[in-house]
Amino acid sequence: MPATPSPPSDAKPITSRDGRLVVPDHPVVPYIEGDGTGPDIWRATKPVLDGAVARAYAGRRRIGWLRILAGESAHAAVGDALPPETVEAIRTYLVAIKGPLTTPVGGGHRSLNVTLRQTLDLYTCIRPVRWFPGVPAPVVSPQKLDVVIFRENTEDVYAGVEWPSGSKEATSLISHLNATLGTHLRDDSAIGIKPMSPMASKRLVRAAIRYALTNKRRSVTLVHKGNIMKFTEGAFRDWGYQVATEEFGDVVVTEKEVEDRYCGVAPAGKLLLNDRIADAMFQQLLLRPDEYDVIATPNLNGDYISDACAAQVGGLGIAPGANIGDSVGIFEATHGTAPKYAGQDKVNPGSLILSGAMLLRHIGWGEAASLVETAFGKTIAQKVVTYDLARQISGVEPTSCSGFGRAVIANMD
Ligand code: NAP
Repeated sequence: MPATPSPPSDAKPITSRDGRLVVPDHPVVPYIEGDGTGPDIWRATKPVLDGAVARAYAGRRRIGWLRILAGESAHAAVGDALPPETVEAIRTYLVAIKGPLTTPVGGGHRSLNVTLRQTLDLYTCIRPVRWFPGVPAPVVSPQKLDVVIFRENTEDVYAGVEWPSGSKEATSLISHLNATLGTHLRDDSAIGIKPMSPMASKRLVRAAIRYALTNKRRSVTLVHKGNIMKFTEGAFRDWGYQVATEEFGDVVVTEKEVEDRYCGVAPAGKLLLNDRIADAMFQQLLLRPDEYDVIATPNLNGDYISDACAAQVGGLGIAPGANIGDSVGIFEATHGTAPKYAGQDKVNPGSLILSGAMLLRHIGWGEAASLVETAFGKTIAQKVVTYDLARQISGVEPTSCSGFGRAVIANMD
């Protein structure tokens, strides 16, 4: 099989003009099935997305799916886990959806997800987290959490600049730092570097503020550990406020301004910008989740906060996600390949289905996205759930992965 088969002949590419997507009625959308249970969840997801589009637009719109290869299937077919044709197809067609991909531990190729994000400069990881009635959750009031997390995707300790303990690089760097900069690092330390730039921090915060304004959200909270890491995390906070005041001064109000000028009450119609130290934020999200809305944060904080929030609403298996840059967006299941269940038609396809809804909204097909989300919520409320949720609800028999997808489609009518 070629690394990229031809797209359906009557489908047209999505293009971009002045930073906005121009979407034909029959757009090409590449998909990567993924490894392990990826094909199971894709088989359940595709008919849900097609069904929603067909219903929302009475057959006038239709997605032209283009299968592209990555991961184990790509390696088996063309000897390369991430063929250049795959990256090129995503670059050409501007949006794509993907299942999870295996990352070998302690050797083999590096994370394909990280490579895709870096190669295509997908600098924002967006994770909306909210509760669906009926999903078993570990907290008393899961409905109070409804946040959208913007995690910086390209820098921080994830930049991949690190050297093992005892390596030539680590040893030489340590002796240089100790000799010339007065540090007292242990000679056999491993070294990792945490780069954070104004450009990358500002574009992330800019994306979060734009999203909040477009979607009429109440606030954006910058989450950082600036009390300890002053020149990286602390600077992230400062750069965030700078973007807000310099570029959105007429529509954004800071928490300090609210205290100083508005007697503690944010003026109507303005977006509130505040910041929280990361450790305190974990407490806040548990104790006063309804005070938070859009969250903008560096890479590592974002990784932790996304999963903690998803767990809080019981939905690690159903949390959607997207990685978006200035021109390209990849929408993806946020869980891994769950290889022990591969081919069993068993796992929860919810994460990929809701990521597909995000994709539909991203290309401006909000009616179809809402159909998916509403039918999804209805299905869970009917207690039609896969094994992972069924085992937490007494007296509920699990449905299959494909059965869940069919139930979502039935709930669109
Ligand atoms: P995982 O695949 O997410 O699986 C861990 C456990 O989470 C599963 O055993 C299962 O729990 C539950 N789970 C995951 N997906 C589920 C679903 N759709 N429905 C229901 N339950 C689900 O994590 P992992 O075992 O650490 O990683 C496996 C591989 O995936 C690794 O190669 C890793 O690198 C890769 N990975 C890829 C991505 C990505 O592509 N974005 C993300 C994370 C990990 P129970 O067994 O308790 O039911």
